[in-house]
Amino acid sequence: MSTARRTHGFRESVIRGMTRLAREYDSLNLAQGFPNFPAPELLKTAAARAIQDDINQYAITWGATRLRRALAATYAQRYGLDADPEREITVTCGATEAMIATLLALVDPGDEVIVFEPFYENYGPDAILSGAVPRFVPLREPDWTFDPAELAAAFNNRTRAIIINTPNNPTGKVFSREELQQIATLCQQWDVIAITDEIYEHILYDGATHIPLATLDGMAERTVTINSMSKTFSVTGWRVGWAISPATLATGIRKVHDFLTVGAPAPLQEAAAFALKLGDDYFRDLSTHYVARRDRLLAMLERTGFRCYRPSGAYYIMTDISAFGFDNDVDFTQYLVQEIGVAGVPGSSFYRDASRARTKLRFCFCKRDETLDEAERRLAKLQVRA
Ligand code: GLN
Repeated sequence: MSTARRTHGFRESVIRGMTRLAREYDSLNLAQGFPNFPAPELLKTAAARAIQDDINQYAITWGATRLRRALAATYAQRYGLDADPEREITVTCGATEAMIATLLALVDPGDEVIVFEPFYENYGPDAILSGAVPRFVPLREPDWTFDPAELAAAFNNRTRAIIINTPNNPTGKVFSREELQQIATLCQQWDVIAITDEIYEHILYDGATHIPLATLDGMAERTVTINSMSKTFSVTGWRVGWAISPATLATGIRKVHDFLTVGAPAPLQEAAAFALKLGDDYFRDLSTHYVARRDRLLAMLERTGFRCYRPSGAYYIMTDISAFGFDNDVDFTQYLVQEIGVAGVPGSSFYRDASRARTKLRFCFCKRDETLDEAERRLAKLQVRA
């Protein structure tokens, strides 16, 4: 017996696979980006209260009213974005479902979708499942900038959408207004939909600012803004995300979402509505908390022989591993998890062409101080060979 052809074009998630290996070898998991510290007490209380209050049956398929209203208020207040909770907001099972539901709803088989490379590994299978033909535009280190001419050349009559992830996983790049404007101009010129994954919106360093693409002139009417509770509130297991889009697109997204999952967890949507109302301090503290971890991991990696690309946002560090003399990123990652006791993600899982990532490895730093302390001790055993 074999599986359907649509599953053949992609492999199992390398990121989740690394989590399994980390468990198997009793390694520290600096691979999968989830916090290993407790979620905020206030959120846990709000979730427990919702369960006690018996909010335990399906919510409205496209999202509990309270949460959609809280989202509309948040985007209006923070960015001046106007989203109608009745017609333009769809609550999903995490940003992951928001992305696949969006692609299934908006892209026909054979349509081209532009993706910046390196990319978060889900976008590859997402494209395959929706029948999209991905067209990759490189972001080049050290600054992970794109060549505007290369981007322009990727647009054509078959282009249906472009996926933008800012702040970016795995590079830590935060797209500038100028870059976003270049994207916006091309989207308008070619009548293309922008799908933006903004899940690291509040995790920013060194004065970087997050600009939602939908706030640029003429873009709200052609942008799907995706986000979730996971990273901002350290609740990656809750699976509460959302997609904000014009009503004409939301009708399709809502239909796909309904038949895929019916809805996101009802009590956790109530807790999410509560969380969105936390004061500005909460959001400021998040970056302050992560910048210390970023600097800590940067310093220990550099001391050990990694070359690091300093992130301006999100909670990953992309590194160059040339100094260790390994043939490729997969062999080195295997050695690291098995012999050194630290798990990372081989760079090639973020590239279509593995040869472009032979010397790259991603670590995450959304981990407890004790985990980072122990990582430092273990990494000290690494030998530079080059
Ligand atoms: N976004 C996280 C990462 O890149 C977690 C991915 C996942 O397992 N859903 O590591």
